Amino acid sequence: MRVHLTANELISKCSTSDYFSQITTRENLYAAVSGMLTFPAMLGIFHHTLWKTLGVASHLKLSPLYGLISVCASGFVSCAVTTSVRDFCMGLPIFMSYSRSDIIICTTLSVIHFAIFSRRLKMVLPSHVLHPGAYARKTVPLDEITSRVTESQKRSVQKLGYKYGCHTCGVKYSRLNKVKRYIVRKWFPLQRKPNSLYYADHSPPVALAPVYLKRNKNAKGSLLPQCQSCSYFQATRVRLLLQNPDKYKNKDSLVTHSLRFKLCKIWLPWPILINSDVLLSYLHTVVEMVLKIF
Ligand SMILES: [Zn+2]
Repeated sequence: MRVHLTANELISKCSTSDYFSQITTRENLYAAVSGMLTFPAMLGIFHHTLWKTLGVASHLKLSPLYGLISVCASGFVSCAVTTSVRDFCMGLPIFMSYSRSDIIICTTLSVIHFAIFSRRLKMVLPSHVLHPGAYARKTVPLDEITSRVTESQKRSVQKLGYKYGCHTCGVKYSRLNKVKRYIVRKWFPLQRKPNSLYYADHSPPVALAPVYLKRNKNAKGSLLPQCQSCSYFQATRVRLLLQNPDKYKNKDSLVTHSLRFKLCKIWLPWPILINSDVLLSYLHTVVEMVLKIF
């Protein structure tokens, strides 16, 4: 039978078993929802403010490191929010149940969870429209940058698009969109919609081929699936770069996509999950031992 302790009694006793025995499902639910909302919100804040302002995009060599920083910090804040909301709902001072080892364990689990579901930490960064984007996975190789795209290559790009989405913004069309596009073309031919939902995007862009060939004569290109709006945006940026390079700013070529739903952004409320697990004491012991060493 549950014995209710007052806030003062809990604070004075302050033992882990007393604390966890007092938590109700409702308090855990509020805390879990708060943490789960905080994680994608924090990723979005990093995406739109820090990385966009600094001009950091997913094509850079250090992009996995920047992605790791984003996920780590977002996981850390989500853990802190979860424990704080739980304390607040119990009428306790916030951060009462906060412990250094808790936060380290939960942040590490957040990163592992994200890496398992996305496999690409750079996915949390904006895409640069002149480079392979955050959602670029497989490509269709070209012999030369300026090679004409064959019908079979176009079909391969469509398949990649249906599987992975637009490589720049991540938008994914279903087969239903394909049927709708077919019907529109069949019944409303004046709309002149292209048959394919994804454009075969040259990487690097064909218009910039002379620049790349100047650096490397044997430079080869590849094709990636790209949606219509990203393709048009790319065209305007390339035109500006060629016609008026003084006005071209690299960070204005970034495409943000933080609102795109992905499974990896569903954060698991680790402070609640591991506190109800027998692994907790083992994990705490290991982390405390490591902390003592350093
Ligand atoms: Zn797109």
